[in-house]
Amino acid sequence: MMTGFLLARAGIDVIVLEKHKDFFRDFRGDTIHPSTFQLMHELGLLEDFLRVPHQEVSSLSAIFNGHEVHLADFSHLKVARPVIGLMPQWDFLNFIAGQAARYKSFSLIRQADVTGLLMNHDKITGVTATTPDGPLKVFAKLVIGTDGRQSTVRTAADLTVIETGAPIDVLWFRLSRHPDDPGQILGNFSKGRILILLDRSAYWQCGYVIDKDGYDRIKEEGLNKFRTDLAETSPFLKDRLLELTDWTDIQLLSVKIDHLHTWYREGLICIGDAAHAMSPVGGVGINLAIQDAVAAANLLWRPLRDQPDVPLTVLARLQIRRTFPTRIIQALQVRIQQGINHRRKTLEKTGVPLFMRLAERYPFLRRIPARLVGIGVRPEHIHSPEIRN
Ligand SMILES: Cc1cc2nc3c(=O)[nH]c(=O)nc-3n(C[C@H](O)[C@H](O)[C@H](O)COP(=O)(O)OP(=O)(O)OC[C@H]3O[C@@H](n4cnc5c(N)ncnc54)[C@H](O)[C@@H]3O)c2cc1C
Repeated sequence: MMTGFLLARAGIDVIVLEKHKDFFRDFRGDTIHPSTFQLMHELGLLEDFLRVPHQEVSSLSAIFNGHEVHLADFSHLKVARPVIGLMPQWDFLNFIAGQAARYKSFSLIRQADVTGLLMNHDKITGVTATTPDGPLKVFAKLVIGTDGRQSTVRTAADLTVIETGAPIDVLWFRLSRHPDDPGQILGNFSKGRILILLDRSAYWQCGYVIDKDGYDRIKEEGLNKFRTDLAETSPFLKDRLLELTDWTDIQLLSVKIDHLHTWYREGLICIGDAAHAMSPVGGVGINLAIQDAVAAANLLWRPLRDQPDVPLTVLARLQIRRTFPTRIIQALQVRIQQGINHRRKTLEKTGVPLFMRLAERYPFLRRIPARLVGIGVRPEHIHSPEIRN
C-alpha cells in the first residue's frame, strides 16, 4: 500500500491488488515506528495521521516474573515524533489508502487474489488474479510482489528462498480489557512463558509464544491447562479466561525468518516480507516493509516514468540497498529468538537477561534497542516527488 501510494504520488500509474475485501486482519502487528511518523512528517501528513485514533508510548517495559524492567527509551530519537504508536494496522492501511486515492494514477482492487504471473519469454509482464467478477489479468511494466511471508508472487517467479527458520510460533487471541487493568504491557515473561499484550481499548490482543509446531500438544493438554498457564503468566487476566470457549477462538500464527537469494528478475521485484519474512520479535517487520517501500519509490519512480523497462541494474540496487538493514535485524531476531527459547525453559531459575539488568542500571543503554526498533539500520527518507497529472 505504501509503495503504491508513493509511486502514484510521483505520477506513476499503479494498481494495488489485495486479496481480502478489507484490511481488517489480525495477524500483522500494530506498531507505528518513530521512522514511520518521520516519513509522515516528510510527506506533510503527520498532523492528519495523528488524528487517527492510536496510543503512544515513549518507552517499552516488560514484566519478568513479576518485576517490571525498562527495555527501550525512544524519547532521545531525533525524529518528528519519538514514540511508538499502537494503531490497528487496518486503520493505518485505510489512512494510506485514503491518501493514495487522492491521486488519479492510483487504484486499489480488493478481493483480487493474485494467482500467477504473465510472462513473455523470460520477462514478467503482469499478473493473473481471481476476483468475485471472474478472472483478471493485469499487465504492468513492473510487478512488485508485496504479498507477505506466504508470497504467491515469489513462488510463481521461482525465486530461491533461503530459510533461517524460527523455533517459535505464536497463538493469537483476544481477551476483554477492563477499566482497572494495568496500562500498556507489551511483554510478560513468567515461569518460562511469554505473553505479549497489545492494548486495543476494548480488548487485549494477546500473543502467546509456543514451541515451533507445539500447538497440537497444547491442544491435547486441553483448554483448561492452557487457561491455567495464562493465569500464571498474567494473573490479572484470570477472571476472563472463560472467554476462550473453544480452540477456534485461538489462531496459530506460524513464525518464520527467511530471505530471497535474489529479490528480482526481469519485470518483477519482491519487497517486504515477500523478500524477507520477519519474525514478530522486536516488532520491527512493519518498519522494514515500509522502509523497503520508501526505497523502492525513491529508486523506481524515474525509470518507471522514463524508460520502457526498469533495468535489472536498478532492481539490483534496490536489493543491495535494503539487504544490509534487513540482514542485520534478522540476525538480531535469530539471536533473541534463541535466547527466548532457552529462557522459556529456564527463566524461573535465571531471571532477567543480562542486557536488561544493565539497562535497568544504566538507563542510557535503553537507547540502543530504541534505535533498532524505532528507526532500524540505515533509515530511508522520502526522495520521490509529488507529481500531479
Ligand atoms: C504474529 C506476528 C506478529 C507481528 N507483530 C509485529 C509488530 O507488532 N510489529 C511489527 O513491526 N511487525 C510485526 N510482525 C511482522 C510484520 O507482520 C511483517 O513483517 C509485516 O507485516 C510485513 O509487511 P508486508 O507488507 O511485507 O506483508 P503483510 O503485512 O503480510 O501484507 C501482505 C498483504 O498482501 C496480501 N496478499 C497476500 N497474498 C496475496 C495474493 N495472492 N493476492 C493479493 N494479495 C495478497 C495480504 O492480504 C496482505 O494485505 C508480526 C508478525 C507476526 C507473524
